[in-house]
Amino acid sequence: MNPTETDYLVIGTGTAGLAFADTLIDEDPQAHVTLVDRHGKPGGHWNDAYPFVTLHQPSAFYGVNSMELGSRRKDSIGLNQGLYELASGAEVCGYFDRVMNHKLLPSGRVAYHPMCNYLGEGRFESLLSGQVTQVAVRKKVVDASYLSPSVPSTHTQRFAVAPGVQVVPPNALPQLWHGRRPAFATGDGATDAAEAGNTTRVPRRFVIVGAGKTAMDAVVWLLGAGAEPDAIQ
Ligand SMILES: Cc1cc2nc3c(=O)[nH]c(=O)nc-3n(C[C@H](O)[C@H](O)[C@H](O)COP(=O)(O)OP(=O)(O)OC[C@H]3O[C@@H](n4cnc5c(N)ncnc54)[C@H](O)[C@@H]3O)c2cc1C
Repeated sequence: MNPTETDYLVIGTGTAGLAFADTLIDEDPQAHVTLVDRHGKPGGHWNDAYPFVTLHQPSAFYGVNSMELGSRRKDSIGLNQGLYELASGAEVCGYFDRVMNHKLLPSGRVAYHPMCNYLGEGRFESLLSGQVTQVAVRKKVVDASYLSPSVPSTHTQRFAVAPGVQVVPPNALPQLWHGRRPAFATGDGATDAAEAGNTTRVPRRFVIVGAGKTAMDAVVWLLGAGAEPDAIQ
């Protein structure tokens, strides 16, 4: 085991963990923070988001206290025309990368351990090497993984799939024309475009499972990409 010391051991480098660390090192000039996350990059679930995701609120109201997200620009085109910009998932990930690399790490008071799974009792394990590190925590272990939203690209479907039906997470929609094997499960391998050797077969009908923000984003994206309204259920 490889001993390390810190004041605050924070589990999760999503919005919650980064915002906490950012405020803490500003408010307490002595504090040392150690951040641990299973993801390879800061930003939490935004790393797993579908490529057409955006914030549903103006960028200026999102992120950490010390660094503004976006430039308070109003969109001049699209569905958000006339309203303040909504950062894309890629922008959110880039922003959290800057928070880590331009603010937190240069402070000299933050240690970051990506690709590490927290095991409990101050111990975390590298997902790549299996090495376990024991951290001596002077003040608190902070669980910033508490909300950890579950997004379709990272969980397994909990329903049966009929033969001939291809199931993909929203992440795979813009790549369907590639004929790549979807990251999510399929109902019947024989009809999977990749297995059929047909690299250009794109589905013509879509059934969206769910009716929340992700589902509505998928519908809007499909319509914008040219799907017929009647082909979407
Ligand atoms: C598609 C989508 C769009 C959204 N849009 C908005 C929006 O516009 N505005 C808004 O306010 N909110 C939005 N949300 C809500 C969103 O949940 C929050 O904004 C925020 O990103 C959640 O951050 P978090 O840090 O709580 O969780 P996460 O981003 O999930 O971060 C938790 C982190 O903890 C890590 N972790 C968990 N367990 C362990 C472990 N044992 N060891 C190591 N690491 C671990 C995970 O790897 C993860 O990186 C959106 C959510 C989704 C899914």
